[in-house]
Amino acid sequence: MFEITATRHIDRREHLLIPRVPVPKQPPEQRIFNFHEVYLGYNEETVKIEAARCIQCPVEQACLTACPVHNDIPLAMWHTARGEFYEGYLAFRKNSTMSEVCGRVCPQEKLCQGSCVVGAYEPPVYIGKVEFFLADWMRIHGKMDSVLDSERKPPTGRTVAIVGSGPAGLHAAEILALKGHHVDVYERHPKPGGLLMYGIPDFKLEKDKVQGITERCEHAGVRFICNTTVNTPGNPYVEDLLYEYDAVLVAIGAEIPATMGTEGEDLPGVWKSLDFLISLNLQEEMFPPGLERPDIEGKTVMVVGGGDTSSDCVRSAVRAGAGRVILSYRRSEKEMPGREEDRGFAKEEGVEYEFLTQPVRFIPGPDGRLAQVELRRMKLGEPDKSGRRRPVPIEGSEFITDVDIMVLALGFWPDEKFAKATPGMETKRWGEIKVDPETGMTSRIGLWAAGDAVNGADLVVTAMAGARKAADSIHEYLLTLSKEYEELGVEPPKPPEAPAGLEPGCAQSFIVTTPARKPVKLDRMG
Ligand SMILES: Cc1cc2nc3c(=O)[nH]c(=O)nc-3n(C[C@H](O)[C@H](O)[C@H](O)COP(=O)(O)OP(=O)(O)OC[C@H]3O[C@@H](n4cnc5c(N)ncnc54)[C@H](O)[C@@H]3O)c2cc1C
Ligand code: SF4
Repeated sequence: MFEITATRHIDRREHLLIPRVPVPKQPPEQRIFNFHEVYLGYNEETVKIEAARCIQCPVEQACLTACPVHNDIPLAMWHTARGEFYEGYLAFRKNSTMSEVCGRVCPQEKLCQGSCVVGAYEPPVYIGKVEFFLADWMRIHGKMDSVLDSERKPPTGRTVAIVGSGPAGLHAAEILALKGHHVDVYERHPKPGGLLMYGIPDFKLEKDKVQGITERCEHAGVRFICNTTVNTPGNPYVEDLLYEYDAVLVAIGAEIPATMGTEGEDLPGVWKSLDFLISLNLQEEMFPPGLERPDIEGKTVMVVGGGDTSSDCVRSAVRAGAGRVILSYRRSEKEMPGREEDRGFAKEEGVEYEFLTQPVRFIPGPDGRLAQVELRRMKLGEPDKSGRRRPVPIEGSEFITDVDIMVLALGFWPDEKFAKATPGMETKRWGEIKVDPETGMTSRIGLWAAGDAVNGADLVVTAMAGARKAADSIHEYLLTLSKEYEELGVEPPKPPEAPAGLEPGCAQSFIVTTPARKPVKLDRMG
């Protein structure tokens, strides 16, 4: 896993003296009026200087170990510092097909950058900012397709169905399609991308980057089958997919919102975080059925929760023109799990924080809509299992405040209904799909799982790490299947037919009709 960089000779002391190159960004007074990305990014000159700050640690580079997909960061920095952006990108691409995303949204201060040895003396190398510069540079210079063409292997005749098109599904789809397998991705939303499209707002990750990834997948041969909720009536079930395809990967994420069980939680004006984010960040034609954009201009918005989602909600509310935006969290700032950088940005953008408070009641006005919230003050008690100090209610500390819109950003669970409709696929206590940690295979032969559906709500990069393992294991499995077909002397079955007129980017959707073909029964399938 670790490439020895001792052969890349540099004067480490000299490189340590290079000051960090700040990344230009939109000032708060400008960015609160738009949804564009905060960071404007490096240019070809500044990125070289920042990459040259890497001191090329000789072995067991800490950044590489801390990166969940083990990107060869020193090699990428080496090339970038020399202006070899193509080669720099390829160093990242070896392990990650989504540098434009990870470079923007990974909590680098806890991962690669947090372990960068330069950080012991000076600010660490801005690894993420260099990473996304390289991916953007490749795209702007039209070099992605030639990379794909050089990586693509001849068709194997093997077929894979992937359920879910978030980072886990997309990463596995691109890897498997380039290995020559036919890959169909089933997605319940009108567009592919998962939470990259229907969650993370533009000011962190603009949608054209996600669109670029899905187009790249299509160029690699992946077919997206959108508006198709697998394991629901009128749509294919995993059972059908296992019948139609050689292998199936479940990458459905963990998108069932946690609830509070608080009085008034169902009032109009109380929003689930994902609905709120979609309604403010996407165009209406991309909304799931039944969703409407709230009237937010001048209103008081309160968001409950301490993770990335709550930061995204408050910052979206600011940009949508809310009069006052408050974030309520039941512990103190120190215990907040969300990214510190986003919190800093939110404060700069005028978000107010109410730490150590928890809603206990949502109160309707005369029109039946949410008008007020009753909050209770909390204090910190003993640490819980996560090591964070437990919030303890202070009796008699309740107070009522006016609020127009309340957003619940309390975390997410995997979809247990999906698991229940998939016979033989075991789950863990909180509904996470059980997999072999080495291969990502579930308790059912031919069925893999990856991403938040396995990890619980986590990170883009950890979803990708699981998807890579699953894709490698699926590939091995498909090669074995091919050999078995060869030994049996039978013609491998053809992939399901795609209807005519399927547009790139999932503009049109279709449902594969039930069993298009029957697989040859192999001994190993029992
Ligand atoms: C608001 C928000 C902000 C976040 N910010 C960050 C961040 O800054 N950095 C970071 O690293 N992580 C962040 N995350 C977490 C990150 O987005 C997830 O960990 C990651 O997207 C998980 O990838 P996934 O592919 O497993 O699942 P998802 O991205 O959830 O994708 C799952 C896909 O499966 C589809 N699906 C579900 N059920 C079915 C079905 N039955 N049939 C067909 N399709 C189905 C869904 O529609 C979805 O498209 C954030 C999450 C949220 C909610
Ligand atoms: S994938 Fe994430 S953790 Fe790994 S190098 Fe890129 S930004 Fe850092």
